[in-house]
Amino acid sequence: MAEQKRDYYEVLGVAKDASEDEIKRAYRQIAKKNHPDVNPSKEAEAIFKEASEAYAVLSDPEKRRQYDQFGHAAFDGGAGGGGYDFSNMSMDDIFGNFGDIFGDLFGTGGGRRAQSNGPRRGANVNYQIRISFDEAVHGCKKTINVNLKDPCPTCGGSGAKPGTSPVTCPKCRGTGRVTVTQQSLFGMMQSVQTCPDCRGTGKIIRDKCPDCHGEGYISSRKSIEVTIPAGIDDGQGVRISGKGEPGVNGGPRGDLIVLCSVSESPIFERNGTDIYSSVPISFTQAALGGDIRVATVDGDVIYKVKPGTQTDTRVRLRGKGVQSLRNKDMKGDHYVTLIVQTPDSLTPEQKRILTELDATYPKKFQAFASQDDYGSEASNDTNAGTTEKKKGKKKKFTESVKDFFNPEE
Ligand SMILES: [Zn+2]
Ligand SMILES: [Zn+2]
Repeated sequence: MAEQKRDYYEVLGVAKDASEDEIKRAYRQIAKKNHPDVNPSKEAEAIFKEASEAYAVLSDPEKRRQYDQFGHAAFDGGAGGGGYDFSNMSMDDIFGNFGDIFGDLFGTGGGRRAQSNGPRRGANVNYQIRISFDEAVHGCKKTINVNLKDPCPTCGGSGAKPGTSPVTCPKCRGTGRVTVTQQSLFGMMQSVQTCPDCRGTGKIIRDKCPDCHGEGYISSRKSIEVTIPAGIDDGQGVRISGKGEPGVNGGPRGDLIVLCSVSESPIFERNGTDIYSSVPISFTQAALGGDIRVATVDGDVIYKVKPGTQTDTRVRLRGKGVQSLRNKDMKGDHYVTLIVQTPDSLTPEQKRILTELDATYPKKFQAFASQDDYGSEASNDTNAGTTEKKKGKKKKFTESVKDFFNPEE
């Protein structure tokens, strides 16, 4: 709270009315230059974190709205923002949320270019798993089997036959890079390339280790348990540090990145932390009101339908959505669309009751029920269907029923 925070739009360098696409593009540009995988400096990390925080807010329509209204105070925790603390956010947390962006930003396997033959971090390994809608909402544990490279025990990772050792590459004299001079349209051009003889390692193995064929590594299948946090969404990933490719020349291992592909639900649709579904209600429930059972991601709840509910009415079940990946205490909402069901078959008894009901309404509303009766429409099985003569337009039974209960409309 002590330091003055920069405006999020300013951080990303976009206008206040920037589109979602513009925000995403601006963030990607910054991340491309300052992501720790690309630029390990402290300065870059600070820039990256600031931009990630700005993006986390501006890419979420709800949070952006709050920010536009209250500024940084919206997320101070005390101001009803529910607490939104970025200060302790680790790179892993950030990845968890923006895995979808980084996935295509860096391609597979880290892909950092060899700067020198010094210690280099191993490449990241991507692994894709499919999880169910429910597993994504509530989190789960998954055991995955991955081929992991480990230093070869026979040669200790050098790749050289026991008793021998790699020698300094004569072509690049151990630097791992060579300068190539080429004739081009603009004259002689010099460029620095990875040494082809030692592939950038600066060392040449004359006698290869028989067990790893000079690679220095052997692959073995390992079972790894992955904890998928509740609230993860399709395309997002979990980073498991140190389970990627081994480092080069004593560098640290890369990370294992488990990307989640989430199956669709037959009843729910999800948008961020909000859930959408529709629930059928009978036309009598719509008219008279009453309790209905609504399936939510956390089980059934009872919802009280108001008398005189129209079809396509949308109601909000506050806090019945998905838990936020970042803040366990924040949950989205569940929006339910109530669909009034028109009965497609009626018993003679039901018909009689409805006709009697109809007779209790003012004349103008009876016209369609008494004149056509049910005969003319009986052939196509919608014997409850009817025609409103006055407007010369066929009305659906649902609408007719609505008219019964809302004679003023
Ligand atoms: Zn070996
Ligand atoms: Zn070389």
